[in-house]
Amino acid sequence: MNSHIMPTYARLPVCFERGEGAWLWDTDGKRYLDALSGIAVCNLGHAHPRVTAAIAAQAGRLVHTSNLYRVGLQETLADELTLAGPMDNVFFCNSGAEANEAAIKLARKYGHELGVECPAILVMESSFHGRTLATLSATGNRKVQDGFEPLVSGFVRVPYDDAQAVEAIDDPNVVAILVEPVQGEGGVRIPKLDYLKRLREICNQRRWLLMLDEVQTGMGRTGSLFAYQQADCLPDVFTLAKALGNGVPIGACLARGKAAEILTAGKHGSTFGGNPLACSAALAVLTSLREDNLISRADQLGSALAEQFRAEFKENHHVIDVRNKGLMIGIQLNQACGELVAMALEQGLLINVTAESTIRLLPPLVFTDDQAELLVMNLANIVNTYTHKTTDTIKQL
Ligand SMILES: *Cc1c(COP(=O)(O)O)cnc(C)c1O
Repeated sequence: MNSHIMPTYARLPVCFERGEGAWLWDTDGKRYLDALSGIAVCNLGHAHPRVTAAIAAQAGRLVHTSNLYRVGLQETLADELTLAGPMDNVFFCNSGAEANEAAIKLARKYGHELGVECPAILVMESSFHGRTLATLSATGNRKVQDGFEPLVSGFVRVPYDDAQAVEAIDDPNVVAILVEPVQGEGGVRIPKLDYLKRLREICNQRRWLLMLDEVQTGMGRTGSLFAYQQADCLPDVFTLAKALGNGVPIGACLARGKAAEILTAGKHGSTFGGNPLACSAALAVLTSLREDNLISRADQLGSALAEQFRAEFKENHHVIDVRNKGLMIGIQLNQACGELVAMALEQGLLINVTAESTIRLLPPLVFTDDQAELLVMNLANIVNTYTHKTTDTIKQL
């Protein structure tokens, strides 16, 4: 481990050198099957030819000018994203936390314009919105907040997937809801089908903004370009980042209607946000999702994988749930299972464990049938070995 890197991550002892699709090779030449995509970032896989060609060409032409000037590719990307939404406009930045910061600032100013002096945003338990001060304050995880008090005020917390709890809020300071369509870090928690629609109705009644954090769910991951498109619900604001540039840092905060008129000249900004290089990557991502039919692929493959995992774990009572929304897959155990990550790595498989007991799989949308089969076989082996071993240990005790 390198002592010149701040130890903010408990890193696994592997360093990758090269990638192609869902394969990665480490510095010793060992090959790994990537079922995590850099945490839902490389949705098109590694070294995707169209993205590589786009950024290589753009790097040779123009990397950065400034948002003091018009940026042609940013305008094109905004046209494409707002058309797909449908939304009215976009603010570009560089990460998910920053995209959510923009949404939080937007909601506060919206509140002030309504005459609310201390505007508050409704946020959820076990949510994750980022690591900046405002976004960690919005996050529903004490571990993320611990040590960074005082937290940013103006957040009111309710349980996730509980529209009644939202309905019961009687706080005149609330002006918006910020919520993930599926909680990623929170354990791949998929809300009831009508949850977002009901939040939409409450927001309409109370003139609150519905703001969706699509940083992890966006860009085809869940089987639609944006997850809300499966929920019969159009948000006022939503945020994107992770997969938007397939690894080139770019974030976006999209808005429509009244919400699109809040952040005016001088009210927000970003030096790098939406520069030509990042936008060239995002435009190539959108083209690839469309032309390679990857979104319907995410839908079909996600369901197929979940079904296969259910079959594999039918006899394993330690596996208490297998759930998915497209290629966002959670396999929940009845015990903490963080050790599985290193076991899988040893076997050449990249997975993640979140919320202590849920295996999170976020394979790239370009995953082939053969790779899917390999993933199911290997992971089933690893999990079954692990749960049998821990059962034996418990028996011995
Ligand atoms: C990853 C993530 C973020 C934070 O994104 P960064 O780019 O790390 O700042 C915010 N919200 C959700 C839902 C995420 O998954």
